[in-house]
Amino acid sequence: KYGHSSIIQIHEEIYAYAHGKQSEIEELKQLAKFRRQFLADVSHELKTPIFAAQGFVHTLLDGAIDDKKNRMKFLKRAAKNLDGLDMLVQDLLTVSHMEAGDITMHLEPVNLCEMIFEIFDQMENNAQKTDITLKMNHERDEIIKVKADEQRIYQVLVNLITNAIKYSDEGGVVEVSVVDLGERQQVIVKDTGIGIPPEHLNRIFERFYRVDKSRARAIGGTGLGLSIVKHIVEAHDSDIHVKSTPGEGSEFSFELDKYIAQ
Ligand code: ADP
Repeated sequence: KYGHSSIIQIHEEIYAYAHGKQSEIEELKQLAKFRRQFLADVSHELKTPIFAAQGFVHTLLDGAIDDKKNRMKFLKRAAKNLDGLDMLVQDLLTVSHMEAGDITMHLEPVNLCEMIFEIFDQMENNAQKTDITLKMNHERDEIIKVKADEQRIYQVLVNLITNAIKYSDEGGVVEVSVVDLGERQQVIVKDTGIGIPPEHLNRIFERFYRVDKSRARAIGGTGLGLSIVKHIVEAHDSDIHVKSTPGEGSEFSFELDKYIAQ
């Protein structure tokens, strides 16, 4: 009934089917592994601030509440850990939406100069505390329009500038530049901070990946900032680039399409 060539064809089809199933199974296994790891990481990250806040509250309940000198200190620490927990849950929601692919970008004209100076105004106090100077290569009243999702690009800049300040020593300089590349504008956030050793460079965008866990924890942060940055930048058809030299500083950059009025 079947000629020789059609038998070969049937074999090939069966093989392709089985092979397809095999790679589907591999993919599902990979996905399950990824989910387990994510859950394990999340539980671990949640536990830290919960344990700490719980500890302070119980110490207060066990009598420290009557200790005038320490009660305020313990309350403040409990509050700080709860604030951290809140930030972590917000970032987790953002990451999980993004990884599920259910984010829509609302592209609109955005003036980068205005946005960057607004962020500087917000961060000035924080930067001053450690004597860090914030600089920009354009004036406050200049207009550089790009096509971007305003809220999300704001978050990208906040995350990058916050890191630049966090991972700098006293007296450092954080400089944001916007460079005209023709069709696109390049945004660069450069610091004179502690830098990142080369072996960590391609891992810092993974969620919860930190170069120096104890330092990062002491400074604060959710460990999700850069993975959020990467998702948002990629949703704007760009890559996020990083260059860094330990002891000298780091430079993060990405590009956005220029906004051209119709
Ligand atoms: P975190 O909340 O820990 O800052 P991020 O995802 O924002 O999480 O960053 C991941 C890690 O990358 C940080 O813990 C830090 O080790 C490193 N890192 C990020 N930005 C910088 C920077 N500007 N200078 C030095 N190290 C940085």
